[in-house]
Amino acid sequence: MREVTAICDVCGTVFPTGVGMAPGSSALFVGNKAGPCPNCGADGTIPDGFYDFIGETLRVISDWEPERQRRLARDLARARQAPDPRGATVAALQSEPSFQAIAQRLLVPRNAGEFWTLVAAIAAVLALVLQFGEVETSTVVDHVIREQAPTVPPEERGLSTD
Ligand SMILES: [Zn+2]
Repeated sequence: MREVTAICDVCGTVFPTGVGMAPGSSALFVGNKAGPCPNCGADGTIPDGFYDFIGETLRVISDWEPERQRRLARDLARARQAPDPRGATVAALQSEPSFQAIAQRLLVPRNAGEFWTLVAAIAAVLALVLQFGEVETSTVVDHVIREQAPTVPPEERGLSTD
């Protein structure tokens, strides 16, 4: 049993919904709303395939040399500061050949909260793998939930709440 997580539509904070879920029953919650967000009070969306996304990311990144992991971590951090953070982030992800399938899933139209939470999840995978070597999917999810911090850069948040 694991707790169902939601992603804030406005600021991208990941938060637990208080609902427990048996493994394999994720489809039940697809498209559902949950809230309020502990950071800004807006509604959140319960994302489809959040665990799968992190598991897949983990599998790909774990095979890389630390140097390559550090480079992507650095490129993602820089992209966040770029004038067009989302475009720069997509470009950074696409520059990694073995990451293209995952980047493709990020490119499907998503709201800012979902997009940046997936990017934050990739950053968490990189940070944890660099620190500990081997990491479980649930460890990454716990880490992202525990942060309880906005994942959407202020520039884009301003645009989406107007
Ligand atoms: Zn929020």
